[in-house]
Formats: sequence, C-alpha cells, structure tokens
Amino acid sequence: MQGNMQKQGLLIPDLLEHAAQYHGSTEIVSRLVEGGIHRYTYADALLRSKKLANALARLGVQSGDRVGTLAWNTFRHFELYYAVSGAGAITHTINPRLFPEQITYIVNHAQDSYLFVDLTFFPIIEKLHNHWPCLKGVVVLTDQDNMPETNLTNVMCYEDLISDESDVFEWPEFEDEQAATLCYTSGTTGNPKGVLYSHRSTILHALGSAQREGLDIDSESTVLPVVPMFHVCAWGVPYAAPMTGAKIVFPGAGMDGASLTELIQTEKADLLLGVPTVWLGLLNYLDQQSQVLESVERVVIGGSAAPVSMIQAFDEKHDAFVIHAWGMTEMSPLGTVCAPTRALKDLPKTERYALQSKQGRPVFGVQLKIIDDEGKECQRDGVEFGRLLVKGPWIAGQYYLEDSSALEIGGWFDTGDVATIDPQGYMQIVDRKKDVIKSGGEWISSIELENVAVGHPSVQEACVIGVLHPKWDERPLLLLVLAEGKSCDDSELLEFMSGKVAKWSLPDAILVVDTLPHTATGKLMKKDLREEYKNFLIDMGE
Ligand code: ADP
Repeated sequence: MQGNMQKQGLLIPDLLEHAAQYHGSTEIVSRLVEGGIHRYTYADALLRSKKLANALARLGVQSGDRVGTLAWNTFRHFELYYAVSGAGAITHTINPRLFPEQITYIVNHAQDSYLFVDLTFFPIIEKLHNHWPCLKGVVVLTDQDNMPETNLTNVMCYEDLISDESDVFEWPEFEDEQAATLCYTSGTTGNPKGVLYSHRSTILHALGSAQREGLDIDSESTVLPVVPMFHVCAWGVPYAAPMTGAKIVFPGAGMDGASLTELIQTEKADLLLGVPTVWLGLLNYLDQQSQVLESVERVVIGGSAAPVSMIQAFDEKHDAFVIHAWGMTEMSPLGTVCAPTRALKDLPKTERYALQSKQGRPVFGVQLKIIDDEGKECQRDGVEFGRLLVKGPWIAGQYYLEDSSALEIGGWFDTGDVATIDPQGYMQIVDRKKDVIKSGGEWISSIELENVAVGHPSVQEACVIGVLHPKWDERPLLLLVLAEGKSCDDSELLEFMSGKVAKWSLPDAILVVDTLPHTATGKLMKKDLREEYKNFLIDMGE
C-alpha cells in the first residue's frame, strides 16, 4: 500500500523562492572580479535569476542542454546555478585551474552549448574556442564597461543579456530525478569523469549538509565559502544557504590572506569553508599582521586532511572550531563531518584535537563501510583499515555518458580511500589507496606523516611519497617547503616526529624544495612527484 502524501518534487528553484519569500532581505555579498564589493538580497537574486532564465530561453537553451561556467564565487555564478537548472537545463561548472587539454576535453564531452565566463578566464576561451564545435556562444560575466576587446564572434555581455528581460518566469515542473548540475572529477589518472547530480539529490544533500550534525547552517549564519563553486558546487553552500536563509559572502577571485581577512572582518563571517592550502595562507597572513579573526566560529576543512597544527591554530589563536569534513565529487560532496558534539567539546584539548583530526561520522543519508581485499567487512575498532565504500541518495551510481554502473556488488561505491572506523563511528582517512606507502608487509599513511611534519614551526608544507627501496619495496620520502626565513635540519625534524608516529614509519630521507605541485582542487599532486623521485633512495645508495 502506498502512502497518501502529495507527490511534490524536490526542485532546485524552490530553494531560492523560499529564501526570497522568507529571508528576502538577507544579503548576498560578493567581491567582484572587476573590483569592489557587490551586495544585494535573496529577493533581488530571485528576480535576476528569472531574467536570466528568460534570456536563456531567448538563446534557445532547452531542457537537458548543458550550459558551462568558468567562474569564481560571485552573485552572477549563483544566479546561473538557479536559472540554468531551474529552467530544466544543466549547469556545468568547469574548473578553470585544469590543464587546457582537460578543459578542452570536458567541454566537448559535455557538449556545452554556451559558456558563461568571468573576465579572468576569458583568455582561456580565446585560446581554446576553436576546439569546441558544440559551442553556440560565450557570455562574459560582467557589465558593458568592463567587456574585453575581442575578435571572437558571438560573445555577449551578461548584464546586457539580462537587462531587458522580464523578471517574471514560471519555473517548469518536471520529475525531480531530472539532471541539474554536471561536475567533472579532476582526473588525476585518465580523463576527467562527469558526475551528474539531479534536483532531488541536490536538495537531499542540502538538507543533510545544513543540519546541526552536518555543516550547521541556519538563518543566523554568515557563511563564506572559499571552496570554489567550480569545485563540487562549493560543497553545496549555494543550495544549503538559501534553504536556511543564511547570509552568503562570496570571495570572488580573492583567495589570498589579505583579501579573505578583509572580507571576513567587514562582513562578520562566522562560518568559513575551504581546503587546507587556503587556510595555510590565511593563518600565515594573520600571524604576520598580528590579527585575530573576531567573528569566525567555525571553519569547515575538507578536500585534504586537516593537520592537528591547523586545528590548534584556529582554536587557540582565533577561538574558531575546526569542523573536519570528508567527501568527494561523486558524493555531492558531503560524506562525513566531525561535528562539535557535547562529548567532543568536553574532551581535554589534546584529545579533542586528535579526534577533530579524524574526518568524522556520516551525516544521515550516507552509509559507510570498510572492507578488506577479500571483500570482508573490517572491524570498527579504529585500528583495522580497509577500502572505504559508501552508499546513499546523493552518491553517484554511474558516470556521465558511461554505460556501466560505477558500483560494486550490493550498490556500494568504492571511494578509492583507505580508512579506519572507530567504535564511536568516527572515520579516519589513512590515505588514498594509490598514495599508501607499501613498506615490506606494512602500510604507511603518507597523510599521517605529513600532518606530524607540518606541526613543526619551521615547516610550511609537507608531502610524503613512497619511493623505491631495494629491501622494503617502498619507503617514505618527505618533501618539505620551509616557512619563510626558517631552517630545520633532518635530525631535528626526525626527533620532532618520533614518538608521534611509529618509529619504522619515519621517512628515510628528507628533502627541502621551493614549492610543491597542487592539483586543480588544491591537493598535493603526488603522481608526478612519485615519478620524479622514484629512484631517490636507490641513487643515494640505500
Ligand atoms: P578530485 O579527485 O576531483 O580532486 P574530490 O574533491 O572529489 O576530487 O576529492 C575527493 C578525495 O579527496 C577523497 O576521496 C579523499 O581522498 C580526499 N579528501 C577529501 N576530504 C578529505 C579529508 N578531510 N581528509 C583527507 N582526504 C580528503
């Protein structure tokens, strides 16, 4: 027997309709790419999104068409999220930091009909447009005064495009399983793969992520997503914020310490979200300027592991609580959150930091398990580790335009991560499966070594890779970027690290480098480093 309730679809534009009606005067503040600050309200955002939806119809964009964006976090990108998906088309967010070949591939694979681009990324279009026969036109996200000079045809100005359109638009009704947003993984091996979110999965993810045990967003929050809208939809903030009526502060292209500090202080942001490398820049800047973040209560850190030293610095210097979170593009992205429960907050500091450095427990909607190589479930004892599998309504079942399912038997998705789960359900990432160092019969976590090394005051950033060893197959090599003006000798660092990690897992060699390479989503690019330093120990005569 079926229930008797209404069959009301979960559609994305309803989030903005809700925000405009019940939180109409709440602000959305953006640092403009052209310079200066823009501010308006949810009520304004809805009207302009409707103008844009009318403009898209005029351009001939149809249900299911892909509309690409190459854009920072600003109010115009936010309008695209709602107008494109709300009109039944698909918002395809493209990461501009990818290599040109990858961007070329992605636009062709997605068959984008139009691209909406920020001024910063217009040169990419000028360079690559010939490779995209699918493209009907380009819209530059700016006003007439700032339009770039170009020889390209069919380049439009965003503000001109929408200015004469009506702000009345009836959002079409359709099944909520319809595709809404397309996001490609960074493709560290092989071509990037598309993950196609639906309206339903997006709304369920927003409901899951806004809750207290998730990112805890509500109408009193002033949320500043530093994580880009081209990186898994800024972790869903552009949906969760209007759902709850939170004020949004969009940082535009200003991800450096000075720009972020200014925006956080003037807008009194209390909830920040981003990857560790961004926070490294911010914390360094604040130290140099002897400034304290007054308004910030919580900092959500994900994308890569949050080192204990970072959790401690936010707590002790800025009285800000780090919420460590884990997820991936295929998970919309939220999987687990280390939420500030009463039990967690009551722990003595060192124990609390240690627990906060775990990636946390799943939000309702996400199921997790760890399995060994035979497929048997591992113990949840915080020690045994295995392949991390996930299941849930906002987790991908297959990749865009691929025929076969992406799932294992029983409908589980293999995250490619190796993890432990403790008796309280806290999950900790040991490593990406491909980054784990296989030394003799033992596995060494590169993440654990990196996190301990960056706790040393002379170390700015650390990267551990497995390199060939004649006896142990692989041993850890530690690459370091030193903090400005600091030095540190190997024995001092090894001394600092011993006691914090198992003795046999200490790195065999330490090498200071000027910079470390990062992927388009801010993660350490270990693949190339492994290749470059493959024979490092062998050449040293180990
Ligand atoms: P991409 O592969 O596109 O860079 P994702 O952003 O989807 O992107 O990356 C997902 C991966 O990032 C996870 O599978 C995991 O390895 C890593 N990751 C995400 N959050 C954390 C975290 N808090 N700690 C450690 N690793 C993390």
